[in-house]
Amino acid sequence: VSYYDEPLVDDLLKPDEVELRRTIRAVVAAEVAPLADVTHRGRPTSPRAFAALRSYCGLLLPQSYGGTGSSTVAYALAVEEIARGCASTSLTFVTQTHAAYPILLKGTEEQRYRYLPGLANGTLLGALAITEPDAGSDAASLRTRAQRDGDTYVLDGSKTFITTGDRADVIVLFATVDRSRGRDGVTAFLLPGDAPGLDRSRTIEKLGMHGSSTATLHLDGVRLPASARLGDEGSAWALSMATVVKSRISAAAQGLGIAASAYAISMRWAAGHGLLRGSNHQAVQFRLSDLRTRIQSARLQLHAVARSVDFGGRDHTADVAMAKTTCTDLGFHAANTAMDLHGMAGTLDGCGVERLLRDVVVTQIYDGTNEIQRLLVARDAADRLDVNP
Ligand SMILES: Cc1cc2nc3c(=O)[nH]c(=O)nc-3n(C[C@H](O)[C@H](O)[C@H](O)COP(=O)(O)OP(=O)(O)OC[C@H]3O[C@@H](n4cnc5c(N)ncnc54)[C@H](O)[C@@H]3O)c2cc1C
Repeated sequence: VSYYDEPLVDDLLKPDEVELRRTIRAVVAAEVAPLADVTHRGRPTSPRAFAALRSYCGLLLPQSYGGTGSSTVAYALAVEEIARGCASTSLTFVTQTHAAYPILLKGTEEQRYRYLPGLANGTLLGALAITEPDAGSDAASLRTRAQRDGDTYVLDGSKTFITTGDRADVIVLFATVDRSRGRDGVTAFLLPGDAPGLDRSRTIEKLGMHGSSTATLHLDGVRLPASARLGDEGSAWALSMATVVKSRISAAAQGLGIAASAYAISMRWAAGHGLLRGSNHQAVQFRLSDLRTRIQSARLQLHAVARSVDFGGRDHTADVAMAKTTCTDLGFHAANTAMDLHGMAGTLDGCGVERLLRDVVVTQIYDGTNEIQRLLVARDAADRLDVNP
């Protein structure tokens, strides 16, 4: 029996999902969590922990492309387990899916067979490059230009904060074929990591997720064949909206994993100090009860959204936005609570608590900041009111 499983949540899982969680949990316990501190220090990345998880990178891909065709709930469970053991490694792990998913959605058969099996088994590393120095939340204002030249495109511009960008074998890169067209000009390309004219030598030092590399990309006259275009010209904005449904589930599951880890650490700390029972210690018990309650609620919310996404048939943007905000804000609250309970000891390098707090902050920022998620939820609510006043 562990601190982080909830019977109510487990009642709603399918047997294969529980089995996958058991398998991933065993791998994480044996080969990922023990390296979490080394991974955290091993900037920009420590490939050993990721290597143990390579064969699970294709959870959301069909078997025909080397994946396992697992449910989105199974994926969320796997990401939560990995993040609980090592958030940095979970970021490298989910980035494989973030690169593979747009290829699955819009790739030609040739593009899919070329990249998806390798991304699914981790022999190829992937990255998704949207953000630019002047285009973060407002991704449609990106400036990286793709100019058609006969049977080729010539790409110029810069990308920043690209996870695994320094090492990826294939980068799903968003550029514009015509900036005046706004969203309708945004076009995706499959950029090989060794393309001439691509400089990705600069990695970024950041607050947390130290074991996951974050790179700046400079493209100076990078020439790609037209066959490297992913989907039609101008179709990539819609593609990014379809991809964030999965990538925001990744971020939510990471926030939840960090929350579960903070809760487990806090429970152990309270048990070690004899605070789990007895009316003298209710202040601590109440904080832990609140954490447990919120983790259970968040997990139910995330699994419900993930299940509904697999049912398909409607737009899940607002549901996913709510789950991402709930889970990552909870991750921050839980890590902060663990820090509070541990006092000075929580700030010590290597104690685990300060790492959780560092790692969780970025989950609130990437895949659309939590303010942007709130905007999406507000817009959806307003739209519903218009339809059904
Ligand atoms: C560790 C890490 C890994 C990342 N990996 C990737 C990756 O692999 N690929 C990739 O493309 N990007 C990646 N990113 C970038 C990430 O997606 C962006 O940081 C994010 O979209 C926010 O953009 P920004 O940092 O430019 O913030 P800004 O857009 O400049 O926002 C700054 C602040 O203003 C707020 N704000 C902005 N617009 C509004 C608005 N309209 N209304 C209300 N508030 C607003 C934001 O919420 C935020 O608080 C990564 C970032 C981090 C930290």
